[in-house]
Amino acid sequence: MADVKKIAVIAGDGIGPEVVAEAEKVLKRTEELFGYQFETEHALFGGIAIDEKGTPLPEETLKVCQSADAVLLGAVGGPKWDNNSKELRPETGLLGIRKALGLFSNIRPAFIFDCLKEASTLKPEVLEGTDLIVVRELTGGIYFGEKFRRETANGQEAVDTCAYNVTEIERIARQAFEIAQTRRKKLASVDKANVLETSRLWRETVNRIAADYPDVELEHVLVDNCAMQLLRRPSSFDVIVTENMFGDILSDEAAMLTGSIGMLASASLGEGAFGLYEPVHGSAPDIAGQGISNPIATILSVALMFRLTFGYHEAADSIERAVKEVLDAGHRTGDIAVDKSTAIGTLAMGQLIVDAMRK
Ligand code: NAD
Repeated sequence: MADVKKIAVIAGDGIGPEVVAEAEKVLKRTEELFGYQFETEHALFGGIAIDEKGTPLPEETLKVCQSADAVLLGAVGGPKWDNNSKELRPETGLLGIRKALGLFSNIRPAFIFDCLKEASTLKPEVLEGTDLIVVRELTGGIYFGEKFRRETANGQEAVDTCAYNVTEIERIARQAFEIAQTRRKKLASVDKANVLETSRLWRETVNRIAADYPDVELEHVLVDNCAMQLLRRPSSFDVIVTENMFGDILSDEAAMLTGSIGMLASASLGEGAFGLYEPVHGSAPDIAGQGISNPIATILSVALMFRLTFGYHEAADSIERAVKEVLDAGHRTGDIAVDKSTAIGTLAMGQLIVDAMRK
């Protein structure tokens, strides 16, 4: 029997449904071209789930995700729910779904389409050949450590604690080494081992795990240096692995190398192949419903799903090549068009990419 992959599809709010619809067309085209089979099941999540079910993450949505091989998510949130109490906010649903699905890493690729080099704030010659992935630890570190305030002789003091255990570091390190093995086999582990104890444990652990991946070249980079090198020589990085807060900052920095938020895909992974895939951008309420949003980030999220969860590398290549071809031919949505009067809409961009896909 054919291997049918189950994908939970969560369109969400704002432009979420528009961009997800185009990504679903890409799934369908992949079935036709490569003979793969996908079974998609739609579920409510975020603001729309608050409106219809009274909670951002309904139990049945979680069940649909848990019984799937992967989740494709559009985006959630919008002004309508901004003043809700914490438990009735779409963002609370995002934290909840990541926790419930055991997702402990966030993966963000940043690569440059030659024809969009001009859209970046960096010089084209610096960007040449940039193709990197940031692997960020998502569940530990200073964001989740103990937090409190206390009175001192110098007034009130606030404390945030940063903690990491070996198990948390080992699992993210293995994941990063394994991703590097599917690419150019270079891993940069980013820490602040000259001052932080958590970073020293991070470095020791990554060094120990490295013995199991002798084919991957490992370098350790201090976070401040990494922030500089990302702007100086971005093309020298392949995979970057780092802890939660450093990853939060560096992944946004890396994202801006590419110029537009409408182009960036991401994945959240746990143990095993399961993953949640979504564009980096939000629900863009300012342009929702106008049919002008850029679907490329969501379409590239499907390519990332093929690579990281299903191992369908040929199909992922086909999507990425199609996106490149369409951009090279000069087609642009408003967010990446220099001359806005020539911009095409969401449907047209999706269709052009589907038509350009080949085996
Ligand atoms: P945003 O990413 O939604 O929008 C920022 C700007 O980029 C806007 O001008 C928007 O029009 C533009 N933009 C974003 N995606 C685009 C696309 N695909 N095509 C063309 N233009 C695009 O960020 P925001 O405005 O800060 O947030 C809006 C809402 O989205 C908020 O409620 C926020 O909480 C939510 N959000 C959700 C997620 C998520 O679901 N993971 C992530 C970020 C923000």
